Amino acid sequence: DISFLLALEGKVPTSVSRLPGLEQRHPWCASSIKLPTTALQKTKKRRRSSDEIRLVAQVGKDSFGNDYIENLRQNDISTEFTYQTKDAATGAASIIVNNEGHNIIVIVAGANLLLNTEDLKEAARVISRAKVMICQLEITPATSLEALTMAHNSGVKTLFNPAPAIADLDPQFYALSNVFCCNESEAEILTSLAVSNPAEAGKAALVLLARGCQVVIITLGAEGCVMVSQTEPVPKHIPTEKVKAVDTTGAGDSFVGALAFYLAYYPNLSLEEMLKRSNFIAAVSVQTTGTQSSYPYKKDLPLSLF
Ligand code: ADP
Repeated sequence: DISFLLALEGKVPTSVSRLPGLEQRHPWCASSIKLPTTALQKTKKRRRSSDEIRLVAQVGKDSFGNDYIENLRQNDISTEFTYQTKDAATGAASIIVNNEGHNIIVIVAGANLLLNTEDLKEAARVISRAKVMICQLEITPATSLEALTMAHNSGVKTLFNPAPAIADLDPQFYALSNVFCCNESEAEILTSLAVSNPAEAGKAALVLLARGCQVVIITLGAEGCVMVSQTEPVPKHIPTEKVKAVDTTGAGDSFVGALAFYLAYYPNLSLEEMLKRSNFIAAVSVQTTGTQSSYPYKKDLPLSLF
């Protein structure tokens, strides 16, 4: 698992079909840790083909890092700002799945934690021009906060996923989040309330909304999600498909990726409709094993979703 910042630009390319499948979480390259110029030039040349989705990130200069970069390229995601460092290993996650499809994940952050606020300057151009920026907490909170500030100041929609959650989250995160999207356990940590059904999620969502977000979404696994916004301040439950879950690992990332897709490319849809469709895409992902490997391509989804 790798921390990430995702910036969406321009019109929908065929390659965006992979977007709901993004589970890599990529932050920003440290300006102090750069590839040799020749390597940078080489990569930049190859990256011209896709400017639609960018992962601003840092991975290790190791086989996992190489594989991630190759995988991103194969999915037509620009790696212009996905750098490799010798100073840490690529972030990794060890995932254990039980018979009900639920998981326990141990994360080794590795290269993700080398990032700092100075590093974001490298990617400032793409952040300020993005339609949507996703940000989460698998990099340092200070770096996440700076990225959100940059996006916010440029009028870019921010989708913040406070994962893994921290109890004393800086209040600025809420004000800088257009959409604040977390799961049940993250909502519990952030609010100190019990969150295990739609009614409880609604109460927690209102607490988070009052901290300054424009929209709060709490995902509830097989129960779908709950939404609340400054314009519609009554919590609403959006149920999802009844499916046989085989492996729910990465369902939240699938949901967040799908939601970013709709925010970027179908901004005129109602939030409720975006969430119905994101629920559907995430429900597809839980029906097969793996994280990225369980995410559907656009071509494999019903046309009614687009
Ligand atoms: P996380 O993966 O962060 O724990 P959730 O478990 O809440 O997040 O799942 C995110 C979304 O994935 C849910 O809102 C729902 O749309 C979908 N999902 C997860 N589990 C199931 C399931 N068992 N059946 C159908 N959809 C699911």
